[in-house]
Amino acid sequence: MKVCVSLVEDSVKEAVAAGLAAQERGADLLEVRFDRMAKLPDDLSPFRRLSVPRIATLRTVSQGGGSELGDEDRLRFFRRAIRIGFEYVDIESDSPLVRRMGRELKNTGVICSYHDFTGTPPLPDLLDALVSTASKGDLAKVAFQVNSVSDLLRLQEAARLFSATSNRFVVIGMGPLGEITRVLPASFGSAFTYASLEKGKEAAPGQLDVATLKALGDQPIITGLTGFPLSHSLSPAMHNHAFQALGVPGRYLLFPAQDEELEGLMGLVRDLRLRGLNVTIPHKSAVMPFLDSVDPLAERAGAVNVIVNRDGKLEGRNTDVTGLEKAMLAAGADPRGKDVLVIGAGGAARACCVVLERRGARIWVVDRTASRAQELARRFNGRVAGHADVTGMEFGMVINCTPLGMTGFPDELPVDPAVFRAGQWAVDLVYNPVATRFLTEAGERGARTLSGMEMLIYQAMDAFEAWTGQRPPYEVMAEGARTG
Ligand code: NAP
Repeated sequence: MKVCVSLVEDSVKEAVAAGLAAQERGADLLEVRFDRMAKLPDDLSPFRRLSVPRIATLRTVSQGGGSELGDEDRLRFFRRAIRIGFEYVDIESDSPLVRRMGRELKNTGVICSYHDFTGTPPLPDLLDALVSTASKGDLAKVAFQVNSVSDLLRLQEAARLFSATSNRFVVIGMGPLGEITRVLPASFGSAFTYASLEKGKEAAPGQLDVATLKALGDQPIITGLTGFPLSHSLSPAMHNHAFQALGVPGRYLLFPAQDEELEGLMGLVRDLRLRGLNVTIPHKSAVMPFLDSVDPLAERAGAVNVIVNRDGKLEGRNTDVTGLEKAMLAAGADPRGKDVLVIGAGGAARACCVVLERRGARIWVVDRTASRAQELARRFNGRVAGHADVTGMEFGMVINCTPLGMTGFPDELPVDPAVFRAGQWAVDLVYNPVATRFLTEAGERGARTLSGMEMLIYQAMDAFEAWTGQRPPYEVMAEGARTG
């Protein structure tokens, strides 16, 4: 992919040094943000040392920059930049200078830019912005703040329609949801993508650094996570770390989507050839009608937490099931033949029951809502246990499938600790914190313990393998989770 590095240095000397470093990292173009300099330089000749095409930008305050110069001063500066060899000047579409410079340069060398930092407008307005910006310059740059999946879908549609008539534009989605426009510029019809020299030197929110983008190349593996709301998740840290450690050019992005945006998001996965997505609360069941197939484990669990895109066909899988099973077996916690108490009756409890069914355990369910416990027990040929009865019973394994003990939830035990016994296994699906009160109390009574962190790591390993064909080592995913 073609990458333009925006240089936000304070002085000419620093900007030239940064430009040379960017060239070494593979920059195809360089944009010098003169509005970010403490003072406009008198001598621009040092920029002749840079060998890739250069863009001189003097972004106005109203378009998110720092330049407060009047039109005539700006015009004089742009003429100087062109005279010393800058190939392009970037001028805001609402400035009268864009036409004047266009005439002077005979319509070459003017990038006409438009920014909306508040949001992404309706489709007709988006197309108007593209058409009008493109009509004023040699190349159009339009950037919109992307606040939702619907915004992203409209931006994609506008870019698709516009690219039928022009390839002289760059469309940028600002903010985390717009990151995909930066890593897949060609899929949005963009002539190139903007990057920073390095982390901390971004010229706009969401910009990635040039080395990261160059390493991704033209056809990176894009995966990610959908759910709503997407509170802090360890998955981006785990998967992005695995991409890096295994040398696989890929990126894991976040797509927070409301119910009514799910179908559109699945269209985006197909259109942009994303390799797949993780799915979390509340979409694990709701997403199923929008997929082409669902594998037997996900069908049995009634939930999909991984979507795999096979040449445009979306397959739903459930690596919560396979991840929990692998985590249990790796720890030596085989539920086979045991009486197992499942606490909770939500999605995680269902995935847990699929594992127990596969391993031939006897399932007992306890939940604060009796009807949900009955429904889950019926589905998996298990039995319902009352909160008051469980302490008198002998379980070989007790599994917490409620969010109690998770950071942000009450730090309460989901069951009377008298249920714990020496030699029994206590498994907590909660992974944050790793050492929960549930596990501590169980351990104090002689039970062996397994943290939800193990399930989280194994489900991520399974998902990564499904998307890339490569199985990341356990340690790589664990390290990613630790940094997340
Ligand atoms: P869910 O579908 O919302 O179900 C939550 C269950 O917990 C329901 O049965 C609910 O009871 C019960 N519950 C919620 N708050 C409670 C409270 N204050 N007191 C008693 N019971 C309560 O959620 P889920 O998807 O099953 O997730 C459950 C937990 O598993 C979460 O903490 C999640 O992070 C964790 N999890 C971990 C992994 C992993 O890889 N380690 C994977 C998936 C999930 P009602 O039936 O009465 O509503």
